[in-house]
Amino acid sequence: MGPGKDNIELENVLRTLRERGHRVTPQRRAILREALSTRGHISPGGVAHAVAQRLPGVNASTVYRTLGLLEQLGFVSHSHGEEGYAYHLAGRADHVHLVCNACGRDLSLDIAETRSLAGAIERQNGFTPDFTHFAISGVCGKCRETF
Ligand SMILES: [Zn+2]
Ligand SMILES: [Zn+2]
Ligand SMILES: [Zn+2]
Repeated sequence: MGPGKDNIELENVLRTLRERGHRVTPQRRAILREALSTRGHISPGGVAHAVAQRLPGVNASTVYRTLGLLEQLGFVSHSHGEEGYAYHLAGRADHVHLVCNACGRDLSLDIAETRSLAGAIERQNGFTPDFTHFAISGVCGKCRETF
């Protein structure tokens, strides 16, 4: 199995790293294990915190670089939100983040729902949008009720 599958195995990632000439250090292994076992969004800060509990002395920049490498290899992609950026496993970046600018709630919209807008942008601007890269800001239903 390669990138793009829903279930990304640690051993598969480690094999790919070695094949591309990257060293697999205990630190890298711990970081990758933590990232790949994270449910939902993988935040670099969260991974750094969890790894530091188990392997003291792993510095944050190693975590950031390792996650960047994981993205270069196509196993994850990032998206920007209110609280910095987070990674999705490849195959799970199939939604747009909707962030409420009043309460900060982060809702999710299926990427399929953006198809007609994407088509309009392509026709009018010759531009292919990537709605998964940045969150769309707005006001959630709960906050709208109280305005
Ligand atoms: Zn997401
Ligand atoms: Zn970006
Ligand atoms: Zn809200």
